[in-house]
Amino acid sequence: MADLTTSVQFIKGIGEQRAKALAKLGIVTLRDLISYFPRKYDDRRSTRRIADLIPGEPACVAAMVTSPPTVSHIRRGLDLVKLRAVDESGVLDVTFFNQAWLKNSLHQGETYIFYGKAEGNLLRRQMANPVVEPANRREVTGCIVPIYPLTAGVSQLILSRSVRQGLHACAEILPDALPDEVRRDHQLCRIEYAYENIHFPESAEALDIARRRLAFEELFLFAIGLRRIRSRREVVSVPPCRSVEMDVFYRALPFSLTGAQRRCVEEALSDMRSGVPMNRLCQGDVGSGKTMVAAACVYFCVKNGRQAALMAPTEILAQQHYAGLDPLMEGLGIRCALLTGSTPAREKKAVAAKLAAGELNFIIGTHALLSGGVDFADLGLVVTDEQHRFGVAQRAALSAKGLHPHTLVMSATPIPRTLALILYGDLDVSIIDQLPPGRLPIETFAVPGSYHPRVYQFIRKLAAEGRQAYIVCPMVEENDELPDERKAVTAYAAMLQQEVFPDLKVSFVHGKMKPREKDAVMAAFAAGEAHILVSTTVIEVGVDVPNAAIMVIENAERFGLSQLHQLRGRVGRGSWQSYCVLISDNRSEETRQRLKVMTQTCDGFKIAEEDLRLRGPGDFFGVRQHGLPGLKIADLGCGTELLQEAQAAADALLAEDPELTSHPATAARVTELFTEASDTLN
Ligand code: ADP
Ligand code: MG
Repeated sequence: MADLTTSVQFIKGIGEQRAKALAKLGIVTLRDLISYFPRKYDDRRSTRRIADLIPGEPACVAAMVTSPPTVSHIRRGLDLVKLRAVDESGVLDVTFFNQAWLKNSLHQGETYIFYGKAEGNLLRRQMANPVVEPANRREVTGCIVPIYPLTAGVSQLILSRSVRQGLHACAEILPDALPDEVRRDHQLCRIEYAYENIHFPESAEALDIARRRLAFEELFLFAIGLRRIRSRREVVSVPPCRSVEMDVFYRALPFSLTGAQRRCVEEALSDMRSGVPMNRLCQGDVGSGKTMVAAACVYFCVKNGRQAALMAPTEILAQQHYAGLDPLMEGLGIRCALLTGSTPAREKKAVAAKLAAGELNFIIGTHALLSGGVDFADLGLVVTDEQHRFGVAQRAALSAKGLHPHTLVMSATPIPRTLALILYGDLDVSIIDQLPPGRLPIETFAVPGSYHPRVYQFIRKLAAEGRQAYIVCPMVEENDELPDERKAVTAYAAMLQQEVFPDLKVSFVHGKMKPREKDAVMAAFAAGEAHILVSTTVIEVGVDVPNAAIMVIENAERFGLSQLHQLRGRVGRGSWQSYCVLISDNRSEETRQRLKVMTQTCDGFKIAEEDLRLRGPGDFFGVRQHGLPGLKIADLGCGTELLQEAQAAADALLAEDPELTSHPATAARVTELFTEASDTLN
């Protein structure tokens, strides 16, 4: 008997050939097949008589073909099949483009269902390229039809037929990962109903019911998995850190910490004193001063006689951290070094030797810290900056160089508190929700493309005052076959250089450059060697060029609010007024509203809340490259209420049955989902 791990090849009606095609979509097992959810649906239930067809409104008609279809070859690449069909109310002329085979499959005197948009007047209705099928064998009309994301070689029909076979094959064997009482308490449908209706919904209501159930299940299992990771970690015990006179550290700073910074430091230090390894996420908007929170923890750890490491995602960020922290640490008697990919081999060796001997207290670096030759005498704290750039595995690799070191991950991606508590269920979360005093808010404008000349003029004016500018380049169409961001950036930069700013220096950077090249361009820009930097979103993270005073974002509608906010955060880091210009020709109400939010506030958490309200939590699930199971269906737009409900249900179940011994189906599914992640997380 089949189970969900059975290869689709062995499912009745699929076979080897089709299995190969499905594999291109990542569908290998029966589970993959039934979990390959539609991207959207086409409601083809409306049925009318020919005379009642409304121009422009898609509908089904049942009509008899009155003459043999004709084919005419219009020109190269354009064949036309024409036929006439009737029902008791009128006549319909139907044309098909480039589907010459239909000539032989549609027969005079037979009745077919045509589904499409009618055009024409009362006397002569026409339909171009309708969906057509025999009236006595209906599959894709008269119902809500799933539309799947596809690649070449698989058609919608093949896929939906395969899914049908798949659902049929697992009719009796679908284990329900949701305990009955959870289903009952939260009014969730049965698993069979959910799978049937997510693919072939009977009605819009049935689809909602199916979706809600599957989203709930996903979030519920996710929450349980994270809780278990966490509780497994909590059984590890480490020698608690001693208290340290922190005033020495605070007095060494050129400013006093904000209340929010102090609170985060307190939370982290109390973790480190607890006897259980710290696993804390420190979330704070760009410029909120996360580095100093990290520095305080480093100081605390080193004064406890252990070593600390700070890992940044790029060379330039690591250098910036080093340049800022080394003098401070030096003054406090902490020996600090930098280790990156471009550290010369000899120096690398020397640094590694000192680390291993315990002669260095604090190391700042990039991925280079993960390399084989780097060992610690006693690694007590791992700080990862801009954590979303690192996978769980990389963070774990650094932690593995110590014996259950404390970990602090810092993220500049504001996530609404409600979501953070769920998405980071395996971590404790501190939020820096306050900026250091005296920051000038960035003035933000949303303008149409016709403003380009003015925007360029404004850049010129700022450049004359000695400031620099970022321009985030138009993104490439998503549906282009091979999106070539490189082309877009280089072409745009070349155009600006030649036609708009011949007298200024324009440089560019994009994600397809080698990390070295990228860093070199960024470093040159930071050193003031170019006036304008054209780029893709690669500049999104962390780099500090205080002299940059304007951020121009082309096609602003294509970015999520949080991403726009991140990009905007690249400016406003100096003492002068900074600006952000969002250019968009998109007139939709949604775009208008979203861009308006940007012009009204610079508070990342407010923006994230607004994004959550406007677009639902889906976008946030992608934010975290967590190496944890992806949330597939919850992306389709569940509300935060459902998230909280699922979370509460998970907590309740674990409170009653922490090992899930009475819920083997739930336990099995969680294990399955977290298998890949679990070895890197422990
Ligand atoms: P982020 O949270 O984006 O990493 P940083 O740690 O880089 O922010 O801090 C941004 C800037 O603010 C730095 O120049 C830093 O020295 C400064 N800063 C940090 N904390 C304070 C504070 N409490 N008062 C004044 N300036 C601060
Ligand atoms: Mg930072």
